[in-house]
Amino acid sequence: MKQRTNNLMPLVERWIRSAIRALSAYHVADASGLIKLDAMENPYQWPQALVQEWLACLQTAELNRYPDPDATILTQQLRTSMQVPAGMDVLLGNGSDEIIQMLALAVAAPGRVILAPEPTFVMYRMIAEFTDMQFEGVALNDDFSLDMDAMLAAIKQHQPALVFLAFPNNPTSNLFDAQQVRDIIQACPGLVIVDEAYHAFCGDSFMSVLGEYPNLLVMRTLSKMGLAGLRLGLLAGAPAWIEQINKVRLPYNINVLTQLSAAFALKHQAVLDEQTQAICSAREQLLTDMRAVSGITVYPSRANFILFRTAPNQAGDVFNALKSKGVLIKNMDGSHAQMKDCLRVTVGTPEQNQAFMAALSAVI
Ligand SMILES: *Cc1c(COP(=O)(O)O)cnc(C)c1O
Repeated sequence: MKQRTNNLMPLVERWIRSAIRALSAYHVADASGLIKLDAMENPYQWPQALVQEWLACLQTAELNRYPDPDATILTQQLRTSMQVPAGMDVLLGNGSDEIIQMLALAVAAPGRVILAPEPTFVMYRMIAEFTDMQFEGVALNDDFSLDMDAMLAAIKQHQPALVFLAFPNNPTSNLFDAQQVRDIIQACPGLVIVDEAYHAFCGDSFMSVLGEYPNLLVMRTLSKMGLAGLRLGLLAGAPAWIEQINKVRLPYNINVLTQLSAAFALKHQAVLDEQTQAICSAREQLLTDMRAVSGITVYPSRANFILFRTAPNQAGDVFNALKSKGVLIKNMDGSHAQMKDCLRVTVGTPEQNQAFMAALSAVI
């Protein structure tokens, strides 16, 4: 039979948009056999008794039925757990990544802009590309604080439909100045989404501020709190916004297993909170230990990861040497001009952090 699929490139090039062809797919490193400190995951599992209880709960799942489209029970628990102010509505996403996509889908139109300070979470830029929107990145100051003059000028010039502020920011791990964030919200004609993916590790939030600004939305996720595998994020804001964004949400986006498992986990939130506390203490220890290593610059962290800079042009070698010693972290060098020579390590268990420190000391 004649093979009709061996030169598809002309067809692909005709139909797949050039902006998509120019992208590289989101890269996930293979971590098999390695201590995995690359993706801001919580390193802890649940106690065995809790796992048994969870499995019993899953036995009630009706896999033949569509999930509750509004995830009513889970939403109520999240409202309480995340202290969503009364009068504000909540929308759930299959991870906050999906919420970023819904926001873009709801506002996308030719010439419309998504703006964010950079370096920051890469999905803001990628989803702008997916939805044929224009992305404007505004460089942070060298200490990774907001360059307010540049931000305000860019907002004035581009009139962005969406501005994303990761609070704390990834990959720089710092918390932007809250008053400066407020000044940006005030200056923006469009929506400002404060992305609080690392809220659990920083103790500061814009959730309680929602009612003060008509153009503010707050986004959270369970991923960094220990439930990355479930894929569950939420967006909180005024009902008038949430009602519209909800229209581009695919029906049943939160599956039965995620609804049951997240509701179960939130009933046992003390376990997650304890793990978060352990990660915060481990972070302080790791910061201290890393600062004692000469030859690297360690940046402050309000999240569950630490950014550090190696001597010029050493990041790749350090990354590879750590990997050959069994520790996978993230090489940020090359991702943005301000990430030159930078590496990012996720805070693990004390044992994992010690293994990382041993490898790092041997390598530097
Ligand atoms: C990890 C991360 C997210 C993604 O969260 P998911 O809910 O897992 O999709 C969102 N924003 C920032 C800043 C992150 O670092």
